[in-house]
Amino acid sequence: MKNELKAMIDTITATTPEPEDYTGEDGLLYCGKCHKLKEAYFPEGKALFGLDRHPAECDCQRAAREEREVAEQRRRHLDAVEELKHRGFTDPTMRDWTFENDNSRNPQTELARRYAEHWEDMRTDNIGCLFWGGVGTGKSYLAGCTQTPS
Ligand SMILES: [Zn+2]
Repeated sequence: MKNELKAMIDTITATTPEPEDYTGEDGLLYCGKCHKLKEAYFPEGKALFGLDRHPAECDCQRAAREEREVAEQRRRHLDAVEELKHRGFTDPTMRDWTFENDNSRNPQTELARRYAEHWEDMRTDNIGCLFWGGVGTGKSYLAGCTQTPS
C-alpha cells in the first residue's frame, strides 16, 4: 500500500524536463524558454516520501494551461448550446432559421438581428425581445435566428 502510494506521488510530482530546460544554482529545474522555475522545494525543508520538491508552473506552462482551459470552456459552451438547440428545435429544419438565410421580407428582422448582436448588453441590462403578430408572420423564424451561438 505504501509503495503504491509512493509510486502515485512520484508520478504526480515528477517534472519532465524539456531539452532546453536547465538546473539552476539552487538545484531546481528552470524553463529554458521563460527562465521561470519548473519545480520548487517543499516549505521549511520538508520532504514527502523522500522528495524535497514538487512541480511548479512556469510562464509557458501557465499560458498553455490557460489556453487549454479557454478552449475547454468554449467547447462546453458549444455543447450546451447544441444540447439546448436539440431540445428546443425539435424540427431539424429549424436549424436553418438564421439571419443569413432570411429573405429580408420581414421589416422586424433588423431589430431582431441588432438584439442578437448586442446579446451581452441585453442580458446585462435584463432586456427581453418579444415577438407578436398573426400566424405565419415569422415570429418563430426570428426567434430561431436569435439562437445562433456566439
Ligand atoms: Zn517556461
